[in-house]
Amino acid sequence: ARQFTRPLNDLANQFNTLLSAIAGAERVFEVLDEKDEFQNEGHQEISDVKGEVEFRNVSFSYEKEDSTVENISLHVFPGETAAFVGPTGAGKTTMINLLSRFYEVDSGGILIDGHPISTIKKESLRKALGYVLQDSFLFQGSVLENIRYGRLEATDEEVIEAAKMANAHSFIMKLPDQYNTVLNQDGNGISQGQKQLLSIARAFLANPTILILDEATSSIDTVTELKIQAALQELMKGRTSFVIAHRLNTIQNADRIFVLDEGRLIEEGAHESLLRQKGFYYQLHTKARK
Ligand code: ADP
Repeated sequence: ARQFTRPLNDLANQFNTLLSAIAGAERVFEVLDEKDEFQNEGHQEISDVKGEVEFRNVSFSYEKEDSTVENISLHVFPGETAAFVGPTGAGKTTMINLLSRFYEVDSGGILIDGHPISTIKKESLRKALGYVLQDSFLFQGSVLENIRYGRLEATDEEVIEAAKMANAHSFIMKLPDQYNTVLNQDGNGISQGQKQLLSIARAFLANPTILILDEATSSIDTVTELKIQAALQELMKGRTSFVIAHRLNTIQNADRIFVLDEGRLIEEGAHESLLRQKGFYYQLHTKARK
């Protein structure tokens, strides 16, 4: 892989490892903003992003010897939901890392609305992409501040509006100081599922065109789970979404399912047609059912 300077590389490595654990994608971008260390910084401002995403013959490896992602081409159209499925280590997270430009492709290109991401200004890219990760990053501060992190200039009313859209408002109102309740990094006193709702609220506020979802695998109570699912469905409306899918129901509803195995795109299609192929996806699916 084309290497960034060391600190950034470490940071991206950390991000990759901890994508699901601490996952401060926003924080990563902040650091990226401070250090202008991309080898070739893009200068094109893109606004009014429609959300078409194309991978064109993308190959990439973290280390020289073995390729992590091999000659992948895929095309997702504005507003569609794409799901990456495949065994652990297949390259799902790497695809997201590349789309986010935490790493540079070795060959091929990734295009948003037809513009290679390498030519897009970081700030534009950051604005276009939004994340709801398994375990969202919280910081010491009030609930209000934690949600406002999605868009720093948002008013209190906008924050509350976003919380309502995310189905987070009702639990927030039951906290000791409602929106002024102070959370620490661990989200003291709120559940895993409630943290997810806050992260969805953040994403509503940020209003990105392209959404990246890393589904939670941890067990979440049924009521909260339903709230999360409903909020996500609403959030995904009108946006291009990339889901690292762990759950069959999300996958089934995706417009395009990309089945990865050992860094290769081996099958592609909607749920029913993939099942009919009786290939790898079919096997994954039947295994998961048992
Ligand atoms: P998935 O998300 O499908 O589980 P990943 O994209 O995380 O798969 O990983 C794909 C492959 O790349 C795996 O073999 C993994 O060990 C390797 N890998 C992931 N991150 C790094 C990294 N930062 N440095 C080196 N190898 C990595």
